[in-house]
Amino acid sequence: MTIAKRLGLATIVLIALGVTSAYYVTMMALQTRSGPVTSFVFIVLGLLAVATVLVMFVFWHGIGRAMNRISGQLHHMTRTRQLGLVMTDGAQELQHVVRPLNELLTMLNGEMDRLRADRRELEIQSRIASAEKHHVEAIIYSISDAVIVTNRFDELLLANEAAEKLLGFDTSAALRKNIDGVISDGTLVRLIRETCSHGRSSHRRVVEHSMDRKGQPRTYNITLSCVVAPNGEVSGVVAVLRDITREKEIAQMKTDFVSNVSHELKTPLSSIKAYIEMLVDGEAEDEQTRQEFYDIISSETDRLNRLIQNILNISRIESGVVTAHREPISISGVVKQVLDVAAPQASAKDIKIAQQLSPVYYQIEADHDMIYQAVLNLVSNAIKYTPPGGTVTVKTAVDEVRRMAVCEVADTGAGIPANDIPHVFDKFYRVSANKKVAKGTGLGLALVKQVIESVHDGNVSVVSEQGKGSRFSFELPVLN
Ligand code: ADP
Repeated sequence: MTIAKRLGLATIVLIALGVTSAYYVTMMALQTRSGPVTSFVFIVLGLLAVATVLVMFVFWHGIGRAMNRISGQLHHMTRTRQLGLVMTDGAQELQHVVRPLNELLTMLNGEMDRLRADRRELEIQSRIASAEKHHVEAIIYSISDAVIVTNRFDELLLANEAAEKLLGFDTSAALRKNIDGVISDGTLVRLIRETCSHGRSSHRRVVEHSMDRKGQPRTYNITLSCVVAPNGEVSGVVAVLRDITREKEIAQMKTDFVSNVSHELKTPLSSIKAYIEMLVDGEAEDEQTRQEFYDIISSETDRLNRLIQNILNISRIESGVVTAHREPISISGVVKQVLDVAAPQASAKDIKIAQQLSPVYYQIEADHDMIYQAVLNLVSNAIKYTPPGGTVTVKTAVDEVRRMAVCEVADTGAGIPANDIPHVFDKFYRVSANKKVAKGTGLGLALVKQVIESVHDGNVSVVSEQGKGSRFSFELPVLN
């Protein structure tokens, strides 16, 4: 029998007894006379009622204690978040409630164990994902090219320092903002937007694009990749911008160098060939004409030799195979030798050569041929880039305080624009504004710098003003 039924039955019995007792007491009160039988019945009924109340009290007390214990156990479980089984301590009446409650608790316990395992798994995965994210960020931040990562809504997800500097934004403020409002270069924004619009088939492409940086035009190779999730959905774009301005300049310089060298070799060779043919054909009738032809052939051969020496020396110095034969030499002595050789080139252009040379007894310890080549390059450049009628002044001096021998070659020629000055000593570099003034290879000054600075630990410098002239100088320690 269930508790509800038992409780119902006990209540009905109590009510019946109560009603009967009340009815009887009332009847007795109405009949004034009462006999011993009536008193006996009244006592029995009273005892019966007291016994019933006692039974009910014991019964409810037992139930109440069991309920308190159950409630205590449930509170404990709530506090400790540990589900266990509920114990009734033998209160059989509550078994009907406790059994299904324990079944429910067992089921919940299993469910909680499963959820805890799931949670642990998720935590591990989240830690792995966060470590991987940091890894990727570290890689991206260490790349010197500019890197931008966007999501499929064209919002900025990640950008490295190079991108911030190039595009002028602050990543922490620009995160999750649409690239429209972050990147001012409209073409770049369009390229990022279009990257995934053609679907997966074209998910990586490289585009060359020019942008201004600090007011200077620069060329970038932009590699755009459409990021596709394993389920095939487009999840964003990665754009890597590599500055190829210098690479392009070098490639152009090399192309120019090959064509310039070919030209520089061909011109004296054709001239030598032409004069030899004239001599062979007997076109030089008198001794003076023949002598003129020999001089031209000789000076053109020197020009060829100078060019080949420049090319060879520069590559020897760069590869470190050159050995300088150091000996005490006089710079003024070397300058005199150079001026003797350069005199015909200067007089052919009607250029006056002025010399202010220090006494020859000042000496430096250096490789004669290399210093000769360096001075020759400076003097022939001065003649090359000075229009007819100009003046080239060559000076040597000794700075007694610093114990340095100084050599200066100044001219009244084309001069060099301020922007080009920092680059004139670079290999293959030719000043655009002066390209029409004279042909060349862009190697002469590079060799001067190598010889003076790398081989002899000296200094080279230039002061120049476009249209007014230039002054190249170098200094080397003087011997005591
Ligand atoms: P190049 O063979 O072109 O003369 P260099 O290395 O000797 O090469 O010189 C580099 C560039 O520097 C030249 O192309 C020229 O424009 C510039 N330059 C060199 N010397 C002078 C000078 N005395 N006056 C003006 N420009 C000069």
